[in-house]
Amino acid sequence: MMLKRGREKWILEGHPWIFRAAVAKEPKGQPIGEVVDVVDWRGKFIAKGFYNSHSSIPLRVLSRDPDEIIDAQWMSKRIHQAVVLRARAFDDEVTSAYRLVHGENDFLPGLVVDKYGEFLVVQIHTLGMDRWRDVIAEALMLHVSPKGIYERSDVGARQGEGLETLPVGLLAGEEPPEQVDFLENGMKFVCDVRTGQKTGFFLDQRDNRVNVAAFCQDAEVLNCFSYSGGFSVFAAQGGATRVESVDASEPALLLAKENLSVNGFDSKDHPCIQENVFDYLKVCKEKSRQFDVIVVDPPAFAKSSGALKRASRAYVRLNRMAIDVLKPGGILVSASCSSAVDDDTFLSYLRTAGAETRRDIQVIKTHFTSIDHPGFVAFPEGRYLKCFFCVVT
Ligand code: SAH
Repeated sequence: MMLKRGREKWILEGHPWIFRAAVAKEPKGQPIGEVVDVVDWRGKFIAKGFYNSHSSIPLRVLSRDPDEIIDAQWMSKRIHQAVVLRARAFDDEVTSAYRLVHGENDFLPGLVVDKYGEFLVVQIHTLGMDRWRDVIAEALMLHVSPKGIYERSDVGARQGEGLETLPVGLLAGEEPPEQVDFLENGMKFVCDVRTGQKTGFFLDQRDNRVNVAAFCQDAEVLNCFSYSGGFSVFAAQGGATRVESVDASEPALLLAKENLSVNGFDSKDHPCIQENVFDYLKVCKEKSRQFDVIVVDPPAFAKSSGALKRASRAYVRLNRMAIDVLKPGGILVSASCSSAVDDDTFLSYLRTAGAETRRDIQVIKTHFTSIDHPGFVAFPEGRYLKCFFCVVT
């Protein structure tokens, strides 16, 4: 594959994607999904990676070393490196669920591996990686020794890669039980790896959840878009007198109840409410109900940069409605997992929400990446999660 003049700069800086617009010449006769070399406009080697002519990203970089051979041993080595990084950070007696492989951000484009206690869940997003399923399973059995590996490649991204299947099922070892249990910073959790959202749990919010606990002593807390109650458990642990978990999904709330109860918190004090968050916030305002701490962690409103305008209105409205029911001096924990919304853009939404409610928003803590969700400096698209802790006066 040959790049247009000047388009090699990003790749040399470490960006892992080559977009179609950067390509001068596609490789001829090379089957899609194979590893191909990329050269600059003068024919000089730049990188090698998975080629897929069907994708808007026809090449995903695997290596910038011309001598590196991409084979089963290479794949196993890369997986091992990712596993070793996590082993340095996590003690399974305290936190036994974390992301082992974070795709491009671990030099493994299109591969996600999450660990939940004794089980692993694999997600394969790209055609190139799809060919390596057996090698990946074997390497994970070797380096992690889980009880079982389950695949959850029921992800929309595969369509854009020209993949027609959405494989779900056991890859190796034992079938996981209906509820897999694990620890997160000492708290007990269960998740459903077979049918739960994502791979079963939102591991990326771990650091924010533990930070929320610090603000919850004697607080009344509202957890918007609670899913299985991750933030709620930590809020209750932090001494909240009442935590309301609101989510539209019934299965999510059943898990939230279970997660509160396995940690000894009564769902009578901490109700799990099946409701649209926008409607719930509206009713709270009408009833003049107010909270000390509000967590707002919605699904990605902007799935692409084309959807940004509509998404920006939704983010502003949501944060404004949350601020409307936050006590003066209360804590707003506001997150966005849209990669199309960068840090500054998200802050501008909060600024507008503050102006519209005539409240001052003081940012006291920010969060972008964590050790199991690393991000390359040259790959802003990979840093999708932003979370701002704010005092709203
Ligand atoms: N904060 C959670 C993750 C949230 S994921 C955690 O820490 O685990 C987003 C959640 O929003 C999903 O559970 C989804 O069911 C829910 N959701 C999406 N749109 C919603 C809406 N309009 N009202 C209520 N819940 C919604």
